[in-house]
Amino acid sequence: MDPHSKDLTAIWPQLSAYVLDREAALASLPAIGNADPSPFNGELPAKGTGTQAAFDLFKASIASRLSTSCGPRYFGFITGGASPAAHIGDVLATSFDQNVMTASESAGSAAADIEEAVVGMIRDLLDLPKEYSGILTAGGTSSNTLALAIARQWVGRRAGVDIGEDGLQALGARRIRVFGTMAHQSISKATSTLGLGRSVVHVAPIAGSTTHMDPMALDKALAAAATTPELVAGCVVVIQSGEVNTSNCDSINGIAAVCKRRGAWLHIDGAANLLARASPTHAALLDGLELADSITGDCHKWFNVPYDCGVMLSRHPDAHAAAMTATAPYLGAVPSFAPINLSLDNSRRFRALPLWMALQAYGRKGFAEIVDRTCRFAAALGAWVDASANYELLQPVCLNTVLFRVIAVDVAQDRTKAVLSRVNASGKVFMTGTVWAGRPAIRAAIANWRTTEDDLQIVTDALVAAANQ
Ligand SMILES: *Cc1c(COP(=O)(O)O)cnc(C)c1O
Repeated sequence: MDPHSKDLTAIWPQLSAYVLDREAALASLPAIGNADPSPFNGELPAKGTGTQAAFDLFKASIASRLSTSCGPRYFGFITGGASPAAHIGDVLATSFDQNVMTASESAGSAAADIEEAVVGMIRDLLDLPKEYSGILTAGGTSSNTLALAIARQWVGRRAGVDIGEDGLQALGARRIRVFGTMAHQSISKATSTLGLGRSVVHVAPIAGSTTHMDPMALDKALAAAATTPELVAGCVVVIQSGEVNTSNCDSINGIAAVCKRRGAWLHIDGAANLLARASPTHAALLDGLELADSITGDCHKWFNVPYDCGVMLSRHPDAHAAAMTATAPYLGAVPSFAPINLSLDNSRRFRALPLWMALQAYGRKGFAEIVDRTCRFAAALGAWVDASANYELLQPVCLNTVLFRVIAVDVAQDRTKAVLSRVNASGKVFMTGTVWAGRPAIRAAIANWRTTEDDLQIVTDALVAAANQ
């Protein structure tokens, strides 16, 4: 690598033209990449072909194989897309390439202060009290893992053990029990990572025919756990705002009251829909959010900043520090906000910058508009599905997710999976499959800032064509 390389200067104008051309064509690009086998074999070149050749090879043989997940009709998983301000912030984050690890004083860079400010702006956007503090993460899974690490520390402290210091073995036979209803798989992944084990995640009963955790049943389960203190060190309750297939949000107040009464930690996994709180139209679904001990948010979903970016907020700074503090003399004393003592990571990118750019550029109103517009689209798609001869809606549309399947006269000949493959192969729209009540289903999650009413006709045409094919 030539230390005097001018490659950036030479290629940036080409890059800019290329990115802008793609931007202009985005709405007409296929939602999924083509599946042609790679023309290159992944062999490491001994000498290297140079930046220009690598860029040309990317354009010729990688770009078309990538999805248009940042476009307006990629409804799989829960996928946002970089808003213009966030996109520019992300480019700047790379250009300035800060390591947001230590406190600003010891790094000679204000980057950590910017991250602290951004966490505060998110707290305000969500109307949370000042006692919440937090940190940016790589996403929902990291936030859930971090939150459960703090919960583990807090539960341990109440059981007389400093888990950060002495480990889970200091609890002896006592386990930490986690209760969730339709909890995202990242919760069991987190309990696995944290040494609690996947088996500690218990399914709390659902209220009636909803997807919601039943506060009365939870109360019973927590009371039962308390009768065996020699086996249960303490409990953590995980609820969702909202559930990934439906966006349904557990009602927080009733569950928070039970957690308080029984001394359980309440974690709210808001990776999917936390941002609903920023919209006056939808905020009521998250009433009681301020009662959570910890909260996960996923900024690369509805917040529309680029991957990878999540946020974790908690109102237990002591347990947070006890669980995460990493000290080493060369890192300096810790006078202020020091990501290294709050994060699962050590070195970290400046992921606060795209968020800061977007929060600054669009404000509270801009974020509420993304929520409202995508929810209106989901409601319209849901109404279309409900009226359609081919498809049936499986849940009333809550927020931005539509859950449906192909109507089957004979369950043994369910065409949902095959039809979904055809929908996705059309390139017009992309959705992901799921299983609902034991049968295949399709979910469309609308989370991209670009999606507008103009896309509805294209989507419904693709659904009709696939069902009739
Ligand atoms: C997406 C999601 C996660 C995982 O987030 P990642 O950013 O993919 O790690 C966790 N919980 C819920 C409810 C989610 O929707």
